Amino acid sequence: MGLLIKNARIVFFEEKEKDILIEDGIIKRIDENIPEEGHEIIDARNKLVSPPFVDPHIHLDKVLVLESVRPNKSGTLMEAIEILWDKKRNYTVDDIVERAGRVIEWAVQNGTLYIRTHVDVDTIGKLMPLKGVLEAKKKYSHLVDIQIVAFPQEGILKDPGTEKLLYEAIEMGADIVGGMPANENNENDKKRHIEIAFEIAKKYNRDIDMHVDETDDPSSITLEYLADKTLKEEYFERVTAGHTCALAAYKDDYANKVIEKVVKAKIHMITNPATNLMLQGREDKQPKRRGITRVKELLEAGANVSFGQDCIKDTFYPFGQADMLEVALITAHAAHMSLPHEIETVFKMCTYNAAKILKLKDYGIKEGYKANLVILDAPTILEAIRTQPGRIVIKDGKIIAKKVSSAEILK
Ligand SMILES: [Zn+2]
Repeated sequence: MGLLIKNARIVFFEEKEKDILIEDGIIKRIDENIPEEGHEIIDARNKLVSPPFVDPHIHLDKVLVLESVRPNKSGTLMEAIEILWDKKRNYTVDDIVERAGRVIEWAVQNGTLYIRTHVDVDTIGKLMPLKGVLEAKKKYSHLVDIQIVAFPQEGILKDPGTEKLLYEAIEMGADIVGGMPANENNENDKKRHIEIAFEIAKKYNRDIDMHVDETDDPSSITLEYLADKTLKEEYFERVTAGHTCALAAYKDDYANKVIEKVVKAKIHMITNPATNLMLQGREDKQPKRRGITRVKELLEAGANVSFGQDCIKDTFYPFGQADMLEVALITAHAAHMSLPHEIETVFKMCTYNAAKILKLKDYGIKEGYKANLVILDAPTILEAIRTQPGRIVIKDGKIIAKKVSSAEILK
């Protein structure tokens, strides 16, 4: 006996309703009118069926720390980082597993089955954040696939000892080499920071995923350094740049030149509008800048662009519920994406585009693929993003989570 989803509107192929038959954890058949034959039935009439959401950028070591540290008074990135220093010194594995675990469970309930998390690696917390997140990854491996980025938040040259810790982090189980080149003291060190990341990535044959130019300052140009290095090393499709807020602050000519290099180097781009709408433009007089990267220009130029949750209740950002549809709604606002095809693109950014960054195999709803999918209680993409509806989450052919949303007028 299998699981039969009737009358599904498969996202991006929704012109006709189809039935989806799942057996042994695999999508066996997608067709019209598959006989019921004693299968367990889910009627998905007027519902969208989507591949699972992918969150390509979050910080599971830092989520929910706001419950135990003072708030960020200036609202700036620097104060957010500084408040964490004390907390980081006192992290324990149990504390990290508990906080990360709560967020992982929310994410799964919301249909996110793939997560890429950055984890601080520096001389303050040393490898404790990684230990904690590795433990959480193990504990929840039946629910979610997690990729870990070793992230030198405090710089590499600026924080001597970090380079060695990055090597150790990869040896311990981190999957991806991170970076934050803008957090170095001078242009040479920023370039060297990028070189070190490539040295580690090449030694272990890993992808790279950096925090890049998370500032409104137009003189922060490490995205160009990263693109140049990626081109030189021919590390195509293996490098991701997150945030890149300064790209929006550059003059158009320079921004276009950098975007051209990004596309040529096949660098994946991730915008994190929830956090950056909150952090950037903070000290501007009116009109205040939006603080997010040039999403539309990057998409138009042919870059693969996604978005991440980034932060949940930490010193950077006080909200967030690990729902990629909420982040989709914020992205649509922040990037002015309101036309029908733009709204579809927003949905693609947290599904197919993000899956490309994580290099997920057999991602999508196709016969023969693993039966990982989400049934959304909404008939269209627009309605899914607008209402952030209830949903049923299926992994390896089994219903693993349900979220119910209902409301009624009683009188
Ligand atoms: Zn981040």
